Amino acid sequence: MSNQTEKAAKDTRSGEAMAGAQDEDVRSDLARVRVVLINTTHPGNIGATARAMKVMGLTSLHLVTPKVFPHADATAMASGADDILQRATVHDSLDSALEGCVLTLGTSARLRSLPMPMFDARRAARQALQESGTHEVAMLFGRERYGLTNEEMMRCQYLVNIPANPEYSSLNLSQAVQIMAYELRVAAIGEADVSLPPLDWEPVDNRQMERFFEHLEHTLLDIRFLNPRQPKKLMMRLRRLFNRARPDQNEINILRGILKASQEAAAKDR
Ligand code: SAH
Repeated sequence: MSNQTEKAAKDTRSGEAMAGAQDEDVRSDLARVRVVLINTTHPGNIGATARAMKVMGLTSLHLVTPKVFPHADATAMASGADDILQRATVHDSLDSALEGCVLTLGTSARLRSLPMPMFDARRAARQALQESGTHEVAMLFGRERYGLTNEEMMRCQYLVNIPANPEYSSLNLSQAVQIMAYELRVAAIGEADVSLPPLDWEPVDNRQMERFFEHLEHTLLDIRFLNPRQPKKLMMRLRRLFNRARPDQNEINILRGILKASQEAAAKDR
């Protein structure tokens, strides 16, 4: 082998090794992005979602109270992606599907359904991938008929909209998953190229956030700030505030400490 050919052969090998390492990064970043379908009516949409995911390298499918599952229509529409269906987890609550997630993104066909921070699909995918290198991330998809409820949206840090015709903006559920899955793959490839620095903060997961919100509500009742007859609106606003702030572990500990001290002070005064 001439020096030239030897060098060319070596370059190809290291090129392949690099591509392999990059593939591995893409795979593991995508593995930590959950697709969560809520209360889906048509099993065919669940199957088509599995296919949309597998084509783009997503593997983690979570179903919250599907109307019918498993079902022959789901298997038929999944085509060769029935392994994703078999490994799908069925949950009886959103809480259970979000277990361990630090970031929840809620997709919505409607612009500004709730006055909440809204990303387009591409920006949302970049955000998801920035965090999925080290943490679990969830992407929620709503019911065919009426999407996500307000309560479900309030569990999200951001809403996500796929830009579409404003006069006809509602995609079929599995097609919405397909577009998001594609954007996630593109973002994952970009991520593997640039390798953004790791997050410098330790995010808290969904369960810790829920515990914080419960503690906050109890404290606001104890200090008589919250009117127990009308608690919903204030708590919605506070949820939005803290979800936007994305408090980290230390900050949540401080906030919980303040709540505890406030409760103790209120109890002493009584
Ligand atoms: N009629 C419902 C739309 C349901 S479409 C509504 O008005 O909300 C089913 C699901 O597909 C939605 O809940 C959402 O998760 C996703 N979806 C459809 N179109 C979308 C879009 N343009 N952007 C983001 N998600 C979309």
